[in-house]
Amino acid sequence: MRSIRRGDTGPAVSEIRSILVGLELLVVAAPALSDEALPGAASSAVAQFDSAVFDEGLEDAVRAFQQSRGLGVDGMVGDETWRALDGARWRLGSRTLFHSVPDALTGEDVRALQERMLEMGYDAGRPDSIYGARTARAVAQFQREVGLTPDGSCGPQTMKALRRLGRKVVGGRPQWLREAEAFRQSGPNLVGKTIVIDPGHGGGDDSGVVVPDGPLRWTEADLVFDLATRLEGRLAAAGMRVHLTRGPQPAAPMSGADRAALANSLGADLLISLHLDGQESAAAEGVATYHYGTGSGLSSTVGERLANLVQREIVVRTGMHDCRTHAKTWDLLRLTRMPTVRVDLGYLTSPVDRERLINPMFREQIVEAILAAVQRMYFPVERDVPTGSIDVRQLRMALADRT
Ligand SMILES: [Zn+2]
Repeated sequence: MRSIRRGDTGPAVSEIRSILVGLELLVVAAPALSDEALPGAASSAVAQFDSAVFDEGLEDAVRAFQQSRGLGVDGMVGDETWRALDGARWRLGSRTLFHSVPDALTGEDVRALQERMLEMGYDAGRPDSIYGARTARAVAQFQREVGLTPDGSCGPQTMKALRRLGRKVVGGRPQWLREAEAFRQSGPNLVGKTIVIDPGHGGGDDSGVVVPDGPLRWTEADLVFDLATRLEGRLAAAGMRVHLTRGPQPAAPMSGADRAALANSLGADLLISLHLDGQESAAAEGVATYHYGTGSGLSSTVGERLANLVQREIVVRTGMHDCRTHAKTWDLLRLTRMPTVRVDLGYLTSPVDRERLINPMFREQIVEAILAAVQRMYFPVERDVPTGSIDVRQLRMALADRT
């Protein structure tokens, strides 16, 4: 189908307009505003406004829609944008949703349901607008807990139960509130807390990023393992119980889900995953930190705080380029029950970052930065200190002071 674009007219344009109005990305029509002030002008404005014309306002709304759905933003309605618009017509509750094989139901209502499930703490997977097996399982679990037949479909009964609960969870993100509360209740002391350090990759032929570079050849798997053991020593010295997710040469590669399951089984208080990045362009450099979040407002608040602290301490203490923090739904971040972050400590493909990373002194700086961030996680907010100011050698003394 040819893209529908600015200047086009016809019923398809009216339809696109009405969907975007329904999504509140577009106001119905401006002329109503001038009704009282200028009655004459109003009627002529009404006459001029034609909902079947693809005007500038409609193009802006299409762009906003494309941006919100992660589509290419060109302001034109081609096949892909049309499918997304079509799915966006469905309001949660306007049809029964179920796990249909092989053609899964898709639409805005599915996405709304997935977000509700996630907010209530059910693992509905990524809010991808597709009613798959995982969404059905989350719905079945919810049904079981509210005393409905757990058939995994969302019909009138399930909608009623959701609406009844709706008032209790409005405005809140119970899963994250619970996580934040549990974290607060665990107290301000590092001593006795369990932290899992996850050196990425390793096992089989999963070495992560590899740069063949003579005697300076390092793999991501080896470098992050070195960083993990250094961090292990420092955290243990501060009184934490520390576990690594893998040894130097694990027999088989481990998935993010494997690593999350391990941390869950240990009842860890925090998890920090260490990676390096790589790119074809040697110009890419810097550090980035990731926490769980869907990109549409759902985010682990404690995880986000840890990510910000780790990122800022590293940037301030090392001067690495700041590639900021980002919300992601990776298995490791999503399936862990404790605040979890992953930090990508520079690009092995960047000559600047690599020179620094292969220097053990620099790796010590990184370890100190992460240690300071972990310490600050446990400071009460009112006692927090400026980034880069904690002398980690004083840590044990500071801890002794408070107890
Ligand atoms: Zn990696």
